Amino acid sequence: MRILKFGGTSVGSEDAIRKVLKLIARKREEGRIQVVVSAFGGVTNTLQQMVEDASAGNQSYREQLKAIEDRHIDIVRKLIGVKQQSTVLTELKVLLNELDDVLHGVSLTHELTDRTRDFVLGFGERLSAYILSKALASSGIEAEYIDARELIKTNDDFGNARVLVPTTYENIRERLQESEFVGIVTGYISSTVNGETTTLGRGGSDYTASLIGAALNAEAIEIWTDVEGIMTADPRKVGRHLPIGRLSYEEAMELSHFGAEVIYPPTIHPAMEQAIPIFIKNTFKPEAKGTVITREVQDDKSSVKGISSIDHITLITLKGSGMVGVSGFAARIFSALADAGVNIIMITQASSEHTVCFAVLPGQAALAMQALERHFKRELEEGIIDEIKEEPDCSIVAAVGEGMKRTPGISGRFFRSLGRNGINVRAIAQGSSERNISIVVQEDDLAKTLNTIHDAFFLSEIKSVNLFLIGIGLIGSKLLDLFDKQASLLFEKHNIELKLCGIANSRYYKIREEGMPFTGWPDRLEEEGEPMSLQQFLEEADRLNLPNSLFIDCTASEEVSDFYPEVMKANFSLVTANKKANSGTLKRYQELQELALEHNVMYLYETNVGAGLPVVKTLKEQVLAGDEITKIEGVLSGTLSYIFNTYDGKTPFSQVVRNALEKGYTEPDPREDLNGRDVARKLLILAREAGIEVEMGDLEVQNLVPGPAREADSIEDFFEKLAEFDDDFRQQYEQAASKGHRLCYIARYEQGDATVALEEIGSDHPFSGLSGSDNIIAFHTKHYRDTPLVVKGPGAGAEVTAGGILADILRISNVPSFSNKIV
Ligand code: ADP
Ligand code: ASP
Ligand code: MG
Repeated sequence: MRILKFGGTSVGSEDAIRKVLKLIARKREEGRIQVVVSAFGGVTNTLQQMVEDASAGNQSYREQLKAIEDRHIDIVRKLIGVKQQSTVLTELKVLLNELDDVLHGVSLTHELTDRTRDFVLGFGERLSAYILSKALASSGIEAEYIDARELIKTNDDFGNARVLVPTTYENIRERLQESEFVGIVTGYISSTVNGETTTLGRGGSDYTASLIGAALNAEAIEIWTDVEGIMTADPRKVGRHLPIGRLSYEEAMELSHFGAEVIYPPTIHPAMEQAIPIFIKNTFKPEAKGTVITREVQDDKSSVKGISSIDHITLITLKGSGMVGVSGFAARIFSALADAGVNIIMITQASSEHTVCFAVLPGQAALAMQALERHFKRELEEGIIDEIKEEPDCSIVAAVGEGMKRTPGISGRFFRSLGRNGINVRAIAQGSSERNISIVVQEDDLAKTLNTIHDAFFLSEIKSVNLFLIGIGLIGSKLLDLFDKQASLLFEKHNIELKLCGIANSRYYKIREEGMPFTGWPDRLEEEGEPMSLQQFLEEADRLNLPNSLFIDCTASEEVSDFYPEVMKANFSLVTANKKANSGTLKRYQELQELALEHNVMYLYETNVGAGLPVVKTLKEQVLAGDEITKIEGVLSGTLSYIFNTYDGKTPFSQVVRNALEKGYTEPDPREDLNGRDVARKLLILAREAGIEVEMGDLEVQNLVPGPAREADSIEDFFEKLAEFDDDFRQQYEQAASKGHRLCYIARYEQGDATVALEEIGSDHPFSGLSGSDNIIAFHTKHYRDTPLVVKGPGAGAEVTAGGILADILRISNVPSFSNKIV
């Protein structure tokens, strides 16, 4: 037997109810169930408003009653077969007339007792459970409406009645133990032994379910609501909340007691007594795991499980040196308050005993103050107590977790995070169970406090990756756009938080520990930045001592790449799109590889070759797997790929280059592409990655810029000079074409020779089908002997490059702790 409880949020609309009906049908197939249901979402609040209005003689309750009526009738029409509709509607009418009568009475007498209020509030569940039972029956499931007032017996504390447990359990067993039907039980309501309607307190349907579960010794109690379980914090207040998989009964009790509305605190007790697990599930996402509350919680990694808050409280403080060392003072305070019926939410006493502080609900503050002033009149006069002070507009924030008692340093972390964020703590209490630390803060600070504490405890599960970006030109800007686009997905799905902690261009830099937005640069830098100095940028970044920090180089600057050794020595990992370091001297290349190892940092540069294509990674993995590279061939320039893929011997070559320039495919000066140096750098890097010790000087590079054009002193001049060679290019083209070949600018490493040259290739060559600006790289290896391992795709462009950089960042982020900095 399982008990399913559907909250108001799960029965708020036609769609939602359909989901509930489906869930019930599915669960029914799996075994016996009983269902508890709340009032349709918002109805209890409306009833409350109506009855208050009525008691004030305000006739507006009539409109609200009409709205309630319409809403229920509408659902009946939509969910119940036409044949049964009229009986159901008649029954509804009877209920609503009864409600109308009571409200009318209240409005006439202007008198509202707690008894009447409970009676009115109970209509929501009576309506919803009745309708749901009929809707189920109408969909072919045998269901019966059960009025919980017949089962759950309480004392006559209207509004928050205490359950008479043995009688209640007996009633439940008698009625439901043997029942083969699905009972649709009204949540929240109960009755006295005399049959007067009582309620179990707002949110009480959860409790109803638990009582029924305990009485029947159910296998499980399932609370179906609108969130995927209990979260690390109230989702409405803390954006980065996470679901909690498991909780102990005690933890759940503590969290709910301190404001986590998702489960009503008294719910836990009956289930705990019988060791029945409570599941919190999302009606709208039934496949999500949700939370399970059980007796023991093993593999409890985190010390703090969740954070909750009581938003409105008043703090009352008694202060006076006369209290020091006088026994019985605290007892007197609390008995005075108890006599006045004041409920104390939290107490703290400074160890000097100079002050005693406690929190009460705002509605009870005046009562508490009066009681204390009366009781301690003499002490106040005699100066034993200096003052009794009331501080309204405060909130309590509690961090809860079984593991806190085993883990030293929790409160340290707790208060450090608050201090760092400038939050003033008014009072502190640690429950004697050590399962809870509670603090009082000003209500204005509530949101900040919740978020700060949440980050301090849960962002360790979420990995914050602290980024220091240099270079916000074309690629850097695209990278920032990409961060902006992907950040929330990475956070939600992969627990990775990208945090931009430093940003710089050649003129300015800015560092901020809390992180900065991804947008608005580089303008913001100009406004807010300091004059750039690599040394200072690094020093300040280093001083933050953030874990998981990494530098990203999106420049093409040699000055920056010369600085990599310092970056690594400061224990920063490094992602670079800048080819300068790896294509400089062999010595520098090797030094960087060694430094990375020595300082336990990651050094990734996938975008050095083929932009976002997985070229370097593929090669590295091949080498690591013991493969031997015999030959590397590639078209490594998107620009030259485009030029030769488009050149057809008819349009003059110089015109093709000009078109490429106009399309933005070339460097501002196309000679930088045509001279082959960039391709040579890439080939050099690939050769080095393959384990070959080569220097740039060892490469043979064919410069495609004809001699006279090299010296041209303007772009226009260059094009004029290049045009003089259009015939030469055409001849080369035709010569190749006459054999059925085509031209291709190929970088090749083979048996110690590295060359970059314009070649003729036949139609059987793997590169012959190349089109657009695609890159292609073929690795001939011992393992890939007959057909090479080929990587092909768009190998140029800021967007794919940014994508490649992000991929590198994520590879690093997936390493458990990629920087040996101390938190
Ligand atoms: P129901 O109508 O199903 O009983 P409630 O409104 O009583 O639903 O409880 C669910 C709501 O509790 C959620 O929508 C969420 O806004 C709120 N809530 C507060 N704290 C938490 C928490 N720690 N985890 C999950 N939900 C929470
Ligand atoms: N309908 C009641 C309320 O809104 C009980 C519940 O939803 O659990 O408080
Ligand atoms: Mg609820």
